[in-house]
Amino acid sequence: MNQSQTSSQGVSPSKAKVQKIAGVKGMNDLLPVDAPAWEFLEKTVISLAKTYGYQNIRTPILERTDVFQRGIGEVTDIVEKEMYSFEDRLNGEQLTLRPEGTAAVVRAVIEQNMLYDGPKRLFYTGPMFRHERPQRGRYRQFHQFGIEALGFAGPDIDAEIILMCQRLWDDLGITGLRLEINSLGNAAERAEHRLALVKYFEGHHEHLDEDSKRRLQSNPLRILDTKNPQMQILVENAPQLGTFLGPESLQHFEVLQSLLKANNVYFKINPRLVRGLDYYNLTVFEWITDQLGSQSTVAGGGRYDPLIEKMGGKSAPACGWAMGMERILELMKEQGLIEKEVPSCDVYWLHTGGQTLIPSLIYAERLRSAGIDVIVHASSDGSASSLKSQMKKADLSGAMYAVIIGEDELRTAEAMVKDLRSSGTQQLVALDGLLDYVIDLMVNHSD
Ligand code: ATP
Ligand code: MG
Repeated sequence: MNQSQTSSQGVSPSKAKVQKIAGVKGMNDLLPVDAPAWEFLEKTVISLAKTYGYQNIRTPILERTDVFQRGIGEVTDIVEKEMYSFEDRLNGEQLTLRPEGTAAVVRAVIEQNMLYDGPKRLFYTGPMFRHERPQRGRYRQFHQFGIEALGFAGPDIDAEIILMCQRLWDDLGITGLRLEINSLGNAAERAEHRLALVKYFEGHHEHLDEDSKRRLQSNPLRILDTKNPQMQILVENAPQLGTFLGPESLQHFEVLQSLLKANNVYFKINPRLVRGLDYYNLTVFEWITDQLGSQSTVAGGGRYDPLIEKMGGKSAPACGWAMGMERILELMKEQGLIEKEVPSCDVYWLHTGGQTLIPSLIYAERLRSAGIDVIVHASSDGSASSLKSQMKKADLSGAMYAVIIGEDELRTAEAMVKDLRSSGTQQLVALDGLLDYVIDLMVNHSD
């Protein structure tokens, strides 16, 4: 018997308790208590983007499924298992809630012909959706901040986007992140590596898990990206792509390394770093922490030169990265970087209802027009509450001043202004002079 049946026993149908509707698993509400930390992070990443001349792009949350199938690659965890895809029942279109930003940004860049007058530096923020097993740092709706540098071929831009990450950690005060980098070379080099990989894994066929057996023919490089601990030793001994790189790829990788070193960005070359998306070539990188359990990657990215052409655009090189906002906030919490914000407000406005509401609403608006934050008291049941209980609310609101209009003040067109913080003094002020009086108080207070 479910709860609604239990609670409706003996109760007339019209009074039966209406059941609560739960949110979708793995998709979180952001509550006011956590909002200041989010706002701080959002402000910081936007200012970081502007520091490097990156411009905001906002693409829809829904795209045609093709965008991700082609953009991310058919044989990837995201496309095979994690996408929220469905048919629009009104017109039969196959649609997908975006699982990541890059493919959608590239779709928009091609569609809007944004590279016609040269390369573009872009950034985005927003929710992404992946049907994964929810746990700390892994959600079904999560948020990314990402940047894309489109139309640039050189390793200088790879260095630039990694320096952006380093600056972001510094701006946020996050410490202890490790940078791992690798080069995936070009298509021909990967083809040679692929032959060697297939040969190697075929020799160890009995040790492959089901996913890897399937990927052996379709996309053997992906096997290196496995999260199966039983496969780790096998993967560690697999032929490394680095040994197949030709002079141009090596040169690109070496210039990047020297630029990072010159800027004191420490990194480790991880030859097994392949990233979970198909479109990468040359540089790939991840920023890793030991403080979030198995959800250790806080940001990752790299070069994806083939993608624009693969998605139907005119061939152009590109690179970018994306960061998980939830993981960054968890890490900041872990490192004690998030201060609890107490509510604050300039003025809490008390009144006794009826006629006193009229000047209250009018003068509160005047204060707000002058940039003063005002909460006008409102009771939960619409009746006038006692001034004593309103004063308690004023204290809780964190307001610096209370402005009070009761029947007496209404008659004389005045308001009582009370300092709630330091002096506790109160003063009757003519409504006409109220704005100047409050501004004076605030200016003197901040001196
Ligand atoms: P992971 O290996 O942890 O699954 P990923 O390689 O799938 O990560 P990317 O596609 O590179 O992740 O996305 C960039 C960043 O977005 C990740 O480094 C991570 O911080 C964040 N991220 C990815 N998936 C999730 C998720 N389900 N919940 C929260 N954050 C996520
Ligand atoms: Mg993943």
